[in-house]
Amino acid sequence: MTTDHSADAAIDTLQRTLALQRKACLAAPYPALAERRRDLKALRLALQRWQDPLAHAMSADFGRRSESECKMLDVLGPALQIDHAIAHLRQWMRSARRGVDWMFLGNSARVVYQPKGVVGVIAAWNFPVVESVGPLVAALAAGNRVMIKMSEFSPRCTEVLRRMLAEVFPEEQVAVFGGGVEVGRAFAALPFDHIVFTGSPAVGREIMRAASANLTPVTLELGGKSPAIVGRSASMSTVARSIAHGKLFNSGQACVAPDYALVPPERIDEFVAATLREFQRMVPDPVKDPQYTSMASERHADRVRELLADAVAKGATVTSCGAGDGARIIALQIVTNVSPRMRIMQEELFNPILPVLACDSIDDAVALVTAGPRPLALYYYGSDADEARRLARDVHAGGMTINDWAWHVFQCDLPFGGSGNSGMGSWRGPEGFRALSHAKSVFTVRRWFPIHLFRPPYGSRIQQLIMKIFLGHGPAGDADASATLAEPSPGGSSR
Ligand code: NAD
Repeated sequence: MTTDHSADAAIDTLQRTLALQRKACLAAPYPALAERRRDLKALRLALQRWQDPLAHAMSADFGRRSESECKMLDVLGPALQIDHAIAHLRQWMRSARRGVDWMFLGNSARVVYQPKGVVGVIAAWNFPVVESVGPLVAALAAGNRVMIKMSEFSPRCTEVLRRMLAEVFPEEQVAVFGGGVEVGRAFAALPFDHIVFTGSPAVGREIMRAASANLTPVTLELGGKSPAIVGRSASMSTVARSIAHGKLFNSGQACVAPDYALVPPERIDEFVAATLREFQRMVPDPVKDPQYTSMASERHADRVRELLADAVAKGATVTSCGAGDGARIIALQIVTNVSPRMRIMQEELFNPILPVLACDSIDDAVALVTAGPRPLALYYYGSDADEARRLARDVHAGGMTINDWAWHVFQCDLPFGGSGNSGMGSWRGPEGFRALSHAKSVFTVRRWFPIHLFRPPYGSRIQQLIMKIFLGHGPAGDADASATLAEPSPGGSSR
């Protein structure tokens, strides 16, 4: 495993590790089911053993991060994903019989799921273990080798993860790297067999550009403005409890956190009061509560203050749900009287600011959401089945939870991924196994099958019969058309 000396040394190490992993792929191109299960079980045991060091490291990287949330999401999440993969791996790996075309009856066709090779994983900082170990689980299940590039904002977690994974896997199977943007650029430029990237849409574009030079396929887990749509039929206490939780979990630094709420105009005051109450019930004192997470850096905290100042300067009203420490601990800030000119409606928030907009009908909600880039998550609160169905069918978003936030993300059998600006592809569930495998078509010709009938000399009776059965006679005038094509005019154009 590597250490971060200088960017140049790190880049050399990246190239050397890729060469090592590629060689290992060639030597053992198709790990057996038992081997993959053994690796996944070893990884699960390592997560159990290292849960405290991982949680401490994540918390220290943030300044303060809820250790309960660290374990609940970053450790338990991948552990459950491993259990699901182990249970389904035999079925996922099984080659699938497919039908053969009528004129090839008697032969056989199947799809073999082959490991792609070396998968490069680039993680963000907000859930650093989920975003690195999650894709690792999928990649190992699919029989790949994996190189992971962690975020420069999670150095302690990177170090613990490196030690944990080195205990379980040799470098030619799994390797972890830290480093800043320069190392990230060099990493994305490596000729991987697949890249899984988690991060912002802006950097996602750079990753895709770098990957295109090698024709490396990409899975992009990006972000966006995920709306929470409150229907008239919703119970306000359910809505408030859920949205307050969605914004306090990791202090809103979650890709699927509700970004803004659309609320019927006559219920906005009730919504603000209920959300404030629910936040204070769960976090009475954000500064003293060790389970309340800080902003990940000074820069991220300053951005919250800048966004609020911009909104206030443009006419917004801010309801603060609690005192912060003036630095990186910031309570939920509910913003009303919001206009599209405000930065809070133009940028993904990724923090504890909650803009609330009046929305009179589900038609208005659909129009507003579909006018912007496609969000990563979509939330609907209410008991109107027609409204829920309409949103599920008509509004593009990565995923959707009805009557709460984010729980679709915790279902191991569901794919998790974005759409359009919020990403492409998924590394989870059966879709993840397939994304990180090559679906190879294998067609076996039986010895007795008269395949020679398809070869030249063309025009045999049987070929003519087949063409006649499948294509019939050409349309009238066909002969004239082919004559014209056969003899182009001297100028090269056909009039
Ligand atoms: P980011 O895009 O700034 O960085 C992500 C990773 O890319 C980091 O490891 C970083 O070092 C690396 N990187 C930065 N520039 C690079 C470059 N030019 N080439 C190669 N690598 C580069 O994102 P972030 O600030 O770490 O995370 C916040 C964003 O991530 C938000 O938009 C959020 O919605 C999104 N996110 C998405 C998911 C998801 O699953 N869809 C999960 C978490 C976060």
